[in-house]
Amino acid sequence: MSKTGIREPEYDILIIGAGVIGSAIARELSRFELKLALLEKEGDVAEGISKANSGVMHAGFNVKPDSLKARFNIAGLQMFPQLCSELGVEFKRCSKLVVAKDDQEHTYLQKLLEQGRRNGSTGLSFINGPQIKRLAPGIRGRTALYSRSTGIINPYQFTIALAENAHQNGTRVFLNHTVQAVRATRNSAFTVITDQGQFSAQVVINAAGTHSDEVARMVDPDFPFIIYPCRGEYHILDKQHSELLDLAVYPVPPRDGSGLGVHLTPTINGNILIGPSTEFIEGREDIATTGDTMQLLLKEAVELLPALRGAQVIRSYSGIRPKLFHPSSGRSFADFHIGESASAPGFINLVGIESPGLTSAPAIATYIKDNFISTHFNLRSNRKFTAHRPAPLRREFLSPPQRRKLARQDHNFAEIICRCEGVSRGEVLMAIENPLGVRTLNGIKKRTHSMMGRCQGGFCLTRIAEILQEEYGITPDEIRQNGPNSTLCSAGRL
Ligand SMILES: Cc1cc2nc3c(=O)[nH]c(=O)nc-3n(C[C@H](O)[C@H](O)[C@H](O)COP(=O)(O)OP(=O)(O)OC[C@H]3O[C@@H](n4cnc5c(N)ncnc54)[C@H](O)[C@@H]3O)c2cc1C
Repeated sequence: MSKTGIREPEYDILIIGAGVIGSAIARELSRFELKLALLEKEGDVAEGISKANSGVMHAGFNVKPDSLKARFNIAGLQMFPQLCSELGVEFKRCSKLVVAKDDQEHTYLQKLLEQGRRNGSTGLSFINGPQIKRLAPGIRGRTALYSRSTGIINPYQFTIALAENAHQNGTRVFLNHTVQAVRATRNSAFTVITDQGQFSAQVVINAAGTHSDEVARMVDPDFPFIIYPCRGEYHILDKQHSELLDLAVYPVPPRDGSGLGVHLTPTINGNILIGPSTEFIEGREDIATTGDTMQLLLKEAVELLPALRGAQVIRSYSGIRPKLFHPSSGRSFADFHIGESASAPGFINLVGIESPGLTSAPAIATYIKDNFISTHFNLRSNRKFTAHRPAPLRREFLSPPQRRKLARQDHNFAEIICRCEGVSRGEVLMAIENPLGVRTLNGIKKRTHSMMGRCQGGFCLTRIAEILQEEYGITPDEIRQNGPNSTLCSAGRL
């Protein structure tokens, strides 16, 4: 209780949404002595936009100068190498080509180069047809903008690492908690009502991705920004095609600002992604993949790289861009909206965090701390803060002698559970023991890469389900794909 007899808020700061933005903010704020909690409606972190994107660390030439997007993109990219090494996540400087087919497209590339230089993007130059052939044999193009500073990461493993490190440093993480209402209270604090009870906090940060405008309206009914969901579908190619490409290849982007065009991106795990498409849709969570778009993606991929004709697709997925304009408005650009609610001070909104949101996340987190949190709290360092989170063990990436040594130390690392991705029983057990307490199949999948290979879990899914039963006493009807309602089987049988 405070001196006035009003109950003190339970938390200093509540963050709504455990995507890359909410998790990066939680991790940054966990450097300080603050009572922090992260509320997430899904059964794991990184289940929204942060799971389904290209995983590209953009160089910063696609965004309008003097925008928040440009500022955070450039600053964020610079933070990644050190951040990823602290968090035990792989960051690869793979570089990128934006390929022009003709003179008109080359003129647009010149604009991108100038824009990039204005934004502070480094490592940019033009290359000609023969140089394209040397760097990316098989890619068709007259000229290309070559970016050496572009990188790739695994976006969901990065988000998990941020959330786990925040948790390690004292942040409480509440999964399966949907925020339904927010009320400002008498002592300048907030009550946050979820489907699993109430929380109170002095400051609330809204990082709810595609729902962030709805959450903003929970405290400010006149909040002016509206999210227009825009779906991007992808194909994931079998690793047998990985030799075809080791850098990201983009077409010249469409001028309507809807996206960057269907591109080819190598992933950290050795697949190639084709996508994303661009389609404004009604549903904020409608992550369907559609037959026509799947055909279109393959067609556009073959135009960039003819050797992809007949390529083996192992999986398709889609993600939703939280656009702040509809194409019918005639606009082609909207910046991130980051600000404190005028009607409810202490309520901080991050709305419309579309691409390059992943690249920008660490810089956005620092900005939130410097510009908002430091005005509400007298920040004192958390002396127990540790920046390092141990890298999860990946047997697949060890040398044969290292694998043999590991297997001698613990026989669980000698038993292969996922043949396609070479994941051992030991890695599955370590994933189930994750600090956030996630025991869903999707949680194990994202942490180990099992069930993500050519057979898509055909071989390993039942073996993982058996491990959950044998080691943790979970009955088959208690096994969940993701959230509480995603049962895998019924009547106690797999
Ligand atoms: C197709 C596509 C490609 C992209 N490619 C790139 C790229 O290559 N590089 C790049 O830098 N950026 C890229 N981006 C952008 C980037 O992925 C996003 O900017 C970033 O992931 C947004 O993160 P977020 O945390 O704001 O949203 P999310 O990851 O969606 O997190 C928001 C979280 O809030 C939760 N939530 C929502 N409502 C509630 C509620 N009421 N209660 C509790 N929890 C709630 C959701 O479940 C979700 O987990 C891409 C985006 C898309 C769609």
